[in-house]
Amino acid sequence: MKIAVAREIEVCERRVALIPDTVARLVKQGLEVWVEAGAGERAFFSDAAYEAAGATIIANNSKLWGEADILLKVSPPQEREDGRSEVDLLKEGSVIISFLNPLGNPVVAQRLAERKVSAISMEMIPRTTRAQSMDALSSQASIAGYKAVLIAAAALPKYLPMLTTAAGTIAPAKVFIMGAGVAGLQAIATARRLGSVVEAFDIRPAVKEEVQSLGAKFVEIKLDEETTAAGGYAKEISEASKQRTQEIVTEHVKNADVVITTAQVPGKKAPLLVTQEMVAQMKPGSVIVDIAAEQGGNCACTDPGKDIVWNGITIIGPINLPSSMPVHASQLYAKNLTSLMQILIRDKAVHLDFADDIIDAACITHAGEIRSSRIKEALQALGVQQSAVS
Ligand code: NAD
Repeated sequence: MKIAVAREIEVCERRVALIPDTVARLVKQGLEVWVEAGAGERAFFSDAAYEAAGATIIANNSKLWGEADILLKVSPPQEREDGRSEVDLLKEGSVIISFLNPLGNPVVAQRLAERKVSAISMEMIPRTTRAQSMDALSSQASIAGYKAVLIAAAALPKYLPMLTTAAGTIAPAKVFIMGAGVAGLQAIATARRLGSVVEAFDIRPAVKEEVQSLGAKFVEIKLDEETTAAGGYAKEISEASKQRTQEIVTEHVKNADVVITTAQVPGKKAPLLVTQEMVAQMKPGSVIVDIAAEQGGNCACTDPGKDIVWNGITIIGPINLPSSMPVHASQLYAKNLTSLMQILIRDKAVHLDFADDIIDAACITHAGEIRSSRIKEALQALGVQQSAVS
C-alpha cells in the first residue's frame, strides 16, 4: 500500500502534509511512503531529508496521484495549470485525506464522490477527547491565534507591555479578543505573555472560566437564547441578540488598542461583530486583525488578504495564517494525519470502519456516495444537480 504526499499547488499554501520525522515513523511500521519532489520545500523540508527518512521521491505528479492508495494533502484538490483537475488524477477506490472545505465548497466533495474516492475531511473530525490528536482544526487555529497577536504587535505604533523606564512609564496596551475558541484562547495567552491587558468575549458562556484562567477579563453578555450547538460549536444568533452584543462590545472595541476577531459559525459566513461605526470610534493608531477574513470577516471594514488603513485604524485581514508558520504548522498537521492513519490502517491495508465515530464523521464520500447530510444540504443550497446525491 502506498501513502503519497502531494506537493501543494495553491500559491499561498506553504505547508506540507507529512514531515520527514513522521515519514520515518510510518516507514518503521512497514508502510511505503511516496513524496512528490519539492513537496516540503516551502516548509523547509528537503527531498533529501524525506529520502533519508525512508520515503521515495516521485517527480511525476500524475504517477503519484494515480498510484496512491492514500493521498495526503493540506489544501483541497484544485485545477492544475494543464487544465486537469487533481480529483481526476486520483485512482478509483483510493482515499484522500485533506482539508476539503466540504461545507464551504461542497462541489469538491461531489466530484470526489463521482470519482469513487473515499474522502476524509480534516474539518469533519469530531471535537471529542479520543479524536484530540487528530484535530487539525485545533492545531492550525492555535497557530492562527498566536500569529494574529504578533501581526497586531508589529502593526501597533505602541508597546504591548507596561514598562517602567528612566524616560517614564509606558501603560500596557489593551487587547480585546472576540471569539474565544481555540484561536481566540491562544491569542489571549500570547497577548498576555507579551504583557498586554486582555479582555475577551464569546457568545458561548462556557468559555468564561477558560478566558479567566488565562488571565483575561471575560466580557459577559446574557442572551435570551441557546448559543451553543452540538459538538460545542456556536450557533448563529438572532438579530436581536446580535444587536444586544454589538451595543455592549462597542465600549470595549472603542477602548482597545488591538482588536483580534476570531468568531466563526461552522458552515456559515462569519458573524459581523465590529461595524464601521465601531471602527470609527476607535483611537487612531489602533489595530484590528480579523482572522475570520477568509469566511467573510468579523469586521465590516475587512478586505480579505489586505492590510488597509481607515480613519487612522489599521485593519488586517490575513488569509491562511497557519501557512505563514509552515514548519510547526506542518509538524502538527503531520501528527494529526498519522494519528488518524493509526485507526484507518490495519494489517497494512485501508480499513474504513464506519462503526468508528471518527471515521463515520470524517469520511464524507465513499463508493460514489456523499455520506454527510450537511454536505448534501450545502449542495442543494447551491442548486447543484448531482448524481452522487441520492
Ligand atoms: P470556531 O472556530 O468555530 O469559532 C471560534 C469562536 O467564535 C467560538 O468560540 C465561537 O463560540 C465564537 N463565536 C461564534 N459566533 C460568535 C459571535 N456572534 N460572537 C462572539 N463569538 C462568536 O470554534 P473552535 O475554536 O473551532 O471551537 C469550537 C468548539 O470546539 C469549542 O467549544 C471548543 O472548545 C471545542 N473544541 C473541543 C475540542 C475537544 O474536546 N477535543 C477540541 C477543540 C475544540
